[in-house]
Amino acid sequence: MTLNPTAGTCVGIHLGLQQIRLIVADVSHSVIAEQTIPMALDYQPQQAAQMAKSAIAQSYEENGLPMAGLLGVGISVSGPVSRDGVVLRASIVPTWAGVNIRDVFGPVLERPIFADNESNCSAIAELMWGAAIGQDDFVLFKIDLGVGGAIVQHGQLVTGIAGGAGEFGHISIDPGGDLCRCGNRGCLELYASFARPLEQISRVVRRQVTMDDVIMMAKEGDVRALRMIEDTAEIAGRGLGLIGSVLNPPLIIIGGQMALAGDILLTPLIASYERHTLIKSRDVAPALRTRIIVGKHTENDALLGAVGLVLRHQTKELSLG
Ligand SMILES: [Zn+2]
Repeated sequence: MTLNPTAGTCVGIHLGLQQIRLIVADVSHSVIAEQTIPMALDYQPQQAAQMAKSAIAQSYEENGLPMAGLLGVGISVSGPVSRDGVVLRASIVPTWAGVNIRDVFGPVLERPIFADNESNCSAIAELMWGAAIGQDDFVLFKIDLGVGGAIVQHGQLVTGIAGGAGEFGHISIDPGGDLCRCGNRGCLELYASFARPLEQISRVVRRQVTMDDVIMMAKEGDVRALRMIEDTAEIAGRGLGLIGSVLNPPLIIIGGQMALAGDILLTPLIASYERHTLIKSRDVAPALRTRIIVGKHTENDALLGAVGLVLRHQTKELSLG
């Protein structure tokens, strides 16, 4: 189906730990405006809705867009979200647990609201416009300061009964391991995210480095940065091996900021996956092997996916009509 780019606009919002990011896109997902609003830690839902309202109004005015063309608002949340839009416990912003996103944003923004987990939004972005175009079945695995995941089957997100499907970061790989923010012990996120390696490198180089810095250092051959990325890849591959044994997916897309490391991450990760999963590449014909690739939208993915939430609904409406 081809959509007319003048047919309307959508807003995608990502609710982060200390900031709200927002894009305005047309129905062909071209980004027209972008804003980042710094927020205090533990900002409140009502405050977020009001900030979003004024940011949207400002973006539309500055770009000469008619507010009447706003089809809907997609909201990406760093944590599990139920099908009816309630943020579940273990979200990155703890005070939001139990909050219904639609009930909070709907009355303020006066538009249809679509909310989902950040990784699910990323998967939608890859499915609609990225590395998973034409792929009905795949798994997304995000390696960032946390670990996220999503499962797509038959072109649809697998949500689980309460919205908790695909939370790969909270598979326990060490029952006696450290306590995770989710309340379990030894979660994959504690070992396969890049939070701890970042602390370790910062300590060794005696300055606060970012993930971008580490990726740059690794590309320049810094052995410390390479080691941290390889260790992360090894553990991520172990976790992915479990997921592979459960789902045996045709495609695994690696997302999150660490995906920008490319082959430095991918090569050891694929080797580790092969070691830990049930079906080895050599067991099956090339067409039946699980492909592991990096995503196309590793930076704007959650926001684009939030726009995708709106468009998927709108196109469904159009095709039903
Ligand atoms: Zn956990």
